[in-house]
Amino acid sequence: MSEIKDETRGADPKYAFRSEAPLPREERVARLLKTLEGILKAGIYDLPLEMYLNTCAKCNNCAEQCQVYQATGDVRDLPAWRSNLLRRVYRKHFTPSGKLFGRLVGAKEVTEEDIDAMVDGFYRCTMCRRCAVNCPLAVDNALITRIGRVILGDLGFAPKNMTGSVKTQLLDGGNTSAIPKAAFIDTLDFLEEELQDEAGVPIPIPRDVEGAEFLFAAPVSDYIMEADTLIGIAKTFHAAKASWTIGTENFDAINYGLFYSDEKLEKILNRLLAEARRLKCKTLVIGECGHATKAGLLFQKVYGRSEYQDIKIKSILEVSHRFLKEGRLRLDPAKNPDLVTYHDPCNLGRGAGLYEEPRELLRAAVMNYIEMTPTRGMNYCCGGGGGLVIAEDLHTWRMEVGGLKKVEQLRATKAKIVVAPCANCKKQLRELIQFHKLDMELAGLHDVLGKALVFEKNP
Ligand code: SF4
Ligand code: SF4
Repeated sequence: MSEIKDETRGADPKYAFRSEAPLPREERVARLLKTLEGILKAGIYDLPLEMYLNTCAKCNNCAEQCQVYQATGDVRDLPAWRSNLLRRVYRKHFTPSGKLFGRLVGAKEVTEEDIDAMVDGFYRCTMCRRCAVNCPLAVDNALITRIGRVILGDLGFAPKNMTGSVKTQLLDGGNTSAIPKAAFIDTLDFLEEELQDEAGVPIPIPRDVEGAEFLFAAPVSDYIMEADTLIGIAKTFHAAKASWTIGTENFDAINYGLFYSDEKLEKILNRLLAEARRLKCKTLVIGECGHATKAGLLFQKVYGRSEYQDIKIKSILEVSHRFLKEGRLRLDPAKNPDLVTYHDPCNLGRGAGLYEEPRELLRAAVMNYIEMTPTRGMNYCCGGGGGLVIAEDLHTWRMEVGGLKKVEQLRATKAKIVVAPCANCKKQLRELIQFHKLDMELAGLHDVLGKALVFEKNP
């Protein structure tokens, strides 16, 4: 095990990503300190941040839990080493003891080389929080990564396709895939035709229904990549006779602000909540998307406008699970005979505690099920978390480093289908299956559920 030393190591050029427009080097140190000061003053993260930045026993328990460090053994991938890049700056500039005693108390002036190391380090962490589970001092290195990324975002450092997607999304009527409203409506019409063919009964996809109980929003990429998931979700709402709708003004649940910018996170979240208010829906249901669910569940109180606080936010997993428990879904598991395993998306599992809901749904919908080892709270990240899955520059890293533990786990199950109810995990797992030539397929949870749902045909 590498020792955690108070040092700076150069960035690893093999896995560098391109940023949009970073600040000139001479402006970066001052800006970093100003941004960190602003974050501390805003008080949003004050308690956990002060605690995490003040404490670390350097015991390295976190390293044993980190799939990145396990894959590389590189000191730069020690969770505590990476967090220390920010911790020592905090101590030097924002604590009396750090100002007085400097290095003696683990404090250090920030340099341009430190900033390079932060850019490299904070984008080699998938923010999966696995390391937080066994830290004796309850330090959450993923939160430190997130704060680090928010600061770096302010300096202009974030993967180019992440910032580009957000820019497109924040245009009037925009979404991350730049799908025009008319094309979106055409897609919904097409999905309705598919639904009719598949289920043998007409199943509508309601749009802009005022007063529906649920406003449903999926990551917009699902409309291009994951039609089976959307079909399964429409079938589930229909089978449960639920009152639901899709909004056509703001229909993209993706919120990449979670990974690098609180300001962007706030704007995107409020646009979705505004859509729920426009349609007078009481509950905003987020589709199969871990990070969008977490952005809503965790940040509504902090960043949601006061007039939107009465809107409930739920994951589609909770909603479908409730339908199952209420006996509103008729399922025939014989429709899914292959061996199925379940991947816990970090943002739905460790992030939102949704462990049993998806499992109960799956067990009711498939003939053969096997758990991964380890599972639930200790399940491994897919290796593309923290938004890394959309940074195409990091594809090699995701395949060769970030996803290695997941590949080991998948192989060991011998399952034919791995189910992952998260758009980002789906992309990463598909790429891992292809890259590592695994004999299995990827499916969304509602793909499988939709297949098992039984509908009465009209006489
Ligand atoms: S497990 Fe916690 S206390 Fe130990 S090195 Fe990691 S962050 Fe520090
Ligand atoms: S959050 Fe995940 S990837 Fe990041 S340091 Fe912890 S275990 Fe490693």
